Amino acid sequence: MLNSIVLTGGAHGNETSGIELIRQWQLSGMPARFNNLNVRCGLANPNAIDANVRFLEEDLNRQFTVERLASDNLAAEAVLAKQLNELYGPKGPDSATDFFIDVHNTTSEMGATLIILEHDAFNIALARFVKNAMPEANILIEDEKTFASHGYLCTLGKKGVMIEVGGQPQGVLREDVYLLTQKMAEAILDFCLAWNEKQDLSTLPPCEAFRLGREISFPLDDHGQRKAMIHHQLQDKDFIALEQGAPAFTGFDGTIYLWEEDTTYPHFINEAAYHKLDVAFATSQRITL
Ligand SMILES: [Zn+2]
Repeated sequence: MLNSIVLTGGAHGNETSGIELIRQWQLSGMPARFNNLNVRCGLANPNAIDANVRFLEEDLNRQFTVERLASDNLAAEAVLAKQLNELYGPKGPDSATDFFIDVHNTTSEMGATLIILEHDAFNIALARFVKNAMPEANILIEDEKTFASHGYLCTLGKKGVMIEVGGQPQGVLREDVYLLTQKMAEAILDFCLAWNEKQDLSTLPPCEAFRLGREISFPLDDHGQRKAMIHHQLQDKDFIALEQGAPAFTGFDGTIYLWEEDTTYPHFINEAAYHKLDVAFATSQRITL
């Protein structure tokens, strides 16, 4: 039974579709069919939202490990993380939140992506339900480590997921991205209703999903400067197979860098927030959930 649900936007202050969806639902109320759910809507980082930046000092959505929550880091987002942990947590089995949904945007062409962090009956049923309601959705599973060891805001709940929608430039609101965000948020809340009503979800068909592999760096020279950019055949091809031998990068000297590994399903291709980290994209494996 999901007795307490939290829905947040603005963990990153320039990811506007979650921020605007939360604002609208706070102003006008959520769709009436969700009245039987206990949902708290909140904006996670109001100061970053006001400044229209991802964060003021440190990435809020990396602060929620047990170690960081216990540290005496005084960065704005580290202090805020402790406040959010008191408000919605505390992180762990005694959390006041049964299910935490956190809404994000990406500059990559990832469409509406549901990010789940655990391969268990709840998350598999959720993934199948959302994919059934919204065939255009992508399901991404990041279960390379335990749920609790992630630093994500949504891990303050006993269960937690993220909605990640793109491509949308930082600080910009696009109608298509907003509508996809709203559709996925409603699909997840419809699942919560079905779960609480103990509907038989075992008849939902298995669905395609992508399991996170690792991050791929841009080609760098000996001084750490980039030598290449995303090849045009890869740009905007999130979750589409990148075959061995296909072009991945175009060098500034004209060199074409080919993908030398086995077929992968890249995502977060050319994500703006990962620019400083020189992350070009993340790999994934296609699986069935
Ligand atoms: Zn984000």
